[in-house]
Amino acid sequence: LFLVAGAVVPELPEVETVRRGLAPAMVGCLVERAVLHRKDYCVRSAGGPCRPRDLLEGAVVRAVERHGKQLAFIAEDGRVLVAHLGMSGQLRALAPGVEPPRSTHVHAVWMLDGGGRVIFRDPRRFGGLWVLKGEAELRERWSRLGPDGLEITGEQLRERAGQSLRAIKAVLLDQSVVAGVGNIYADEALFLSRIHPLRAARSLRAEEYDSLAAAIRRTLLAAIAAKGSTLRDYRDASGEPGDAQAGHAVYGRAGEPCYGCHGKLKGMRVAQRATVWCPRCQPRTRRRARGS
Ligand SMILES: [Zn+2]
Repeated sequence: LFLVAGAVVPELPEVETVRRGLAPAMVGCLVERAVLHRKDYCVRSAGGPCRPRDLLEGAVVRAVERHGKQLAFIAEDGRVLVAHLGMSGQLRALAPGVEPPRSTHVHAVWMLDGGGRVIFRDPRRFGGLWVLKGEAELRERWSRLGPDGLEITGEQLRERAGQSLRAIKAVLLDQSVVAGVGNIYADEALFLSRIHPLRAARSLRAEEYDSLAAAIRRTLLAAIAAKGSTLRDYRDASGEPGDAQAGHAVYGRAGEPCYGCHGKLKGMRVAQRATVWCPRCQPRTRRRARGS
């Protein structure tokens, strides 16, 4: 993936917010027609060109699931379509009677019985659709990712990261360790658990992994509650920008005062990503507990 300066990709809370908007509009509905405007936006794992039936045309949607940052549409007959939002993807449910925007950036449209539609818009085209052979392939693919960020435990984190010499921030961004945590929530969780982003994963104690996992779950849940962060290209399934951005404690706040100690937050790059932390609240070497 090539990173564009200043770009922010949808993370787990944004994708979960989209899922929660799409599921009630799609589950139980028959896909009467599916149209793919850009052939190269959809890939079949079995090879060959994508046909309307690959986009679930003629199927009833049984579930809209998410793991990490990936969404899957699962049909009652076993067909499975995976969607990635990439950097600027928007999946939106339109109520009956609402015309889809006339835009060259709308790459796929699903027309549902009852008159609703779902559109996939993605100006920068880092996202896409993947047609799988069935649910077994979906489970196999998702099992290669780490546990979902909303459910990660300290023990799971330690098991997957505990021997690594890499910086803990870089490890949190690794989707095979924990799925769905990106730059924003990695910084927020490290701040909440008072862990310096450059500490080697191996140097963290079990209690620190517990506190980090709890902080990951908490920051993700809080962001979902705020309907996802308002980012440049992000919209939830109804097209509304979210309002989580105001709630970030460190992300995007380098040079500003820390909410914990009022000292100045610092910025640096870790794993090529802008990283913000508080030198006082997140010391590089942990202080010895006093009086014990
Ligand atoms: Zn501080």
